Amino acid sequence: MSAETALLEVENLVKHYPVRRGLLRRRAGTVHAVDGVSFALRRGETLGLVGESGCGKSTVARSVLRLVEPTSGRIQLKGHDITHLGKTELRQHRRAMQIVFQDPFASLNPRMSAGDIVGEPLSVHGLASGRDKEARVAELFSQVGLRPDQMRNFPHQFSGGQRQRICIARALALRPDLIVCDEPVSALDVSIQAQVINLLVDLQQAYGFSYLFIAHDLAVVAHISHRVAVMYLGRIVEIADKNELFNNPRHPYTQALLASVPVANPRVKRLTPLVDGDVPSPVNPPPGCAFHTRCRYAMARCKTERPALLAAGPRHQVACLLGDGAGRAE
Ligand code: SF4
Repeated sequence: MSAETALLEVENLVKHYPVRRGLLRRRAGTVHAVDGVSFALRRGETLGLVGESGCGKSTVARSVLRLVEPTSGRIQLKGHDITHLGKTELRQHRRAMQIVFQDPFASLNPRMSAGDIVGEPLSVHGLASGRDKEARVAELFSQVGLRPDQMRNFPHQFSGGQRQRICIARALALRPDLIVCDEPVSALDVSIQAQVINLLVDLQQAYGFSYLFIAHDLAVVAHISHRVAVMYLGRIVEIADKNELFNNPRHPYTQALLASVPVANPRVKRLTPLVDGDVPSPVNPPPGCAFHTRCRYAMARCKTERPALLAAGPRHQVACLLGDGAGRAE
């Protein structure tokens, strides 16, 4: 994807954290949170980033937003390299990138009214004040399915789903090009999750922005994403269009993740679980293919050779050393 067509391009992103121990805080190891992640995101597209807890997906999200500093790699937004921009230069790009966090209660200031919370970005960026701001905030409340008269209420007066709608309204306030959603529905009741996901889909259709959608729940990702990238221990192991990934998973780990999704229709054939055990520690992860300690297809070379992410079909890439790029789904 060229810089002209991509809204966001991430190239070989690495984020390592030192592990320090003892009184002198000597370096005792390195957490390989993100270990060479590359992807591109088009305008109006949703890329779902899935994987088990601790696989590095949230670190990717925070690195893209420059909330954490990448160890190496490159992040381009609308063709501008933002990887090493200082605070002042970054400020103008921050308007284009917003985030919706997992826990809507923790990310809202309990002492501010909902209207002040949603209007705060407009004040910070000097975009509206007084009656203009109030009118814009009322419009944002309507756009996310809240009543404008709820602007005066405080976060504790809203339900979990409504609080997440406030967070979405705040993210929309600056008319961003990209919204990073970091597990935005995992803290909500299942009955509310679909409403919030449908709202996100409707807003994207109306305003054409892109989502980088982080989740561990494949069913949620399936509903909202155009493309899906599967992460394991800091690396993308498979990336493809949604239907291709769900109908033709090629990486043994993707197959295992799909096997763990509950099947609503009992007549639909289930994949058998393909992996056991926990994800290894990202401190000194396994050499070669990081998945080899849990993979039923692992070969001797998997312990030493790191598989590259290679084409396995049109708009489908897989990182696996098996000849056809994948294990067989059973
Ligand atoms: Fe399994 Fe080897 Fe493929 Fe890794 S490279 S997923 S260990 S077969």
